Amino acid sequence: GRKFFVGGNWKCNGTTEEVKKIVGTLNEAKVPGEDVVEVVVSPPYVFLPFVKSLLRSDFHVAAQNSWVRKGGAYTGEISAEMLVNLDIPWVILGHSERRQLLNETNEFVGDKVAYALSLGRKVIACIGETLEQREAGTTLDVVSEQTKAIADKVSNWDNVVLAYEPVWAIGTGKVASPAQAQEVHAALRKWVHDNVGAEVAASLRIIYGGSVNGGNSKELASQPDIDGFLVGGASLKPEFVDIINSAT
Ligand code: 13P
Repeated sequence: GRKFFVGGNWKCNGTTEEVKKIVGTLNEAKVPGEDVVEVVVSPPYVFLPFVKSLLRSDFHVAAQNSWVRKGGAYTGEISAEMLVNLDIPWVILGHSERRQLLNETNEFVGDKVAYALSLGRKVIACIGETLEQREAGTTLDVVSEQTKAIADKVSNWDNVVLAYEPVWAIGTGKVASPAQAQEVHAALRKWVHDNVGAEVAASLRIIYGGSVNGGNSKELASQPDIDGFLVGGASLKPEFVDIINSAT
């Protein structure tokens, strides 16, 4: 079986005091063990070592981005080498906010995923259609194309979690219905089956993101191809614990 995965993407939020509070809540939370659910939180870069030092040992940390190749003269960027140096195991790549606001292309995201994996990092690779694309009926083409750009560069998928995050559902309160999410997840798994391989398709975690909260996570989690969540806003709140607990 595929182990349930819950990621908390804190995005560009938090102060030292708020970070201490969130981690304090997580550290006291009663949740299933690491054998049942994998929990990863992703604070902004400047808080990563601090969070890693405070966080319970059965939860792990992720960076929110890493540079596309070896570090060097790239002002403002953080390299995958630095994640290795600081023992940060995970990185989120290709988030729609970076695709849209920072013009990250499918190909660039594919290169980033491949580079981070080559340094032994585990990657949460994000894909998802915009509202216009959904309304135009091109959702499955868009997410297949985004996945293909990753598959073109990646041969070993063991350390990849694929996050389906429809852009229209992110931060809007308009969560995809369980049926809507399941349809895309099943189509993605079929795409991986047909284009990568049956074994990868069976083992790849495909997680959902976009307005997940403590009230809707349980029903989404019951869908056969939804293997967990990538949570934004609600990951800053105590209800993140309820989302983790929707694993069982
Ligand atoms: P929200 O949960 O705030 O909609 O954000 C989802 C997201 O973008 C997680 O990466």
